[in-house]
Amino acid sequence: MIYKPHQNGRLLEGDTQFGKFRIVWNDQNEVVEMTHEPREPKQPTGLSRIAHGAAGLAKATLGIDQCSESTQANRRAICKACPLVQLDAHGDIRRCSECGCWLKKKITLAGEACPHGKWSSERTGDNNGSK
Ligand code: SF4
Repeated sequence: MIYKPHQNGRLLEGDTQFGKFRIVWNDQNEVVEMTHEPREPKQPTGLSRIAHGAAGLAKATLGIDQCSESTQANRRAICKACPLVQLDAHGDIRRCSECGCWLKKKITLAGEACPHGKWSSERTGDNNGSK
């Protein structure tokens, strides 16, 4: 993966086993461009989920699109009480059985949302886990 400045903000490019990715963030940490070029013409079911997950992991690893500490804590508590959560050996959140996302990363991203609407994007402000 290559991470570098871009005329519209910052650019992350990668060539992975799932294909090529290109993501551009502006100065407000909003994704303004995201493309995925599959490696194979026929894609297995769930590739978009994998692409979404790879982009999310990259953003979380690079510290891009982070939400507030309080939102993360609220989201963590909601997921921990959810029947669809997979917990790790320490009883902390691990993975969501519904969307397949790795929750420790997912809850840190402002633009992410629960697939069941239990918490939503911090940008929408309607239900970011603070209820
Ligand atoms: S993301 Fe939503 S469905 Fe998944 S574990 Fe968390 S609260 Fe449950």
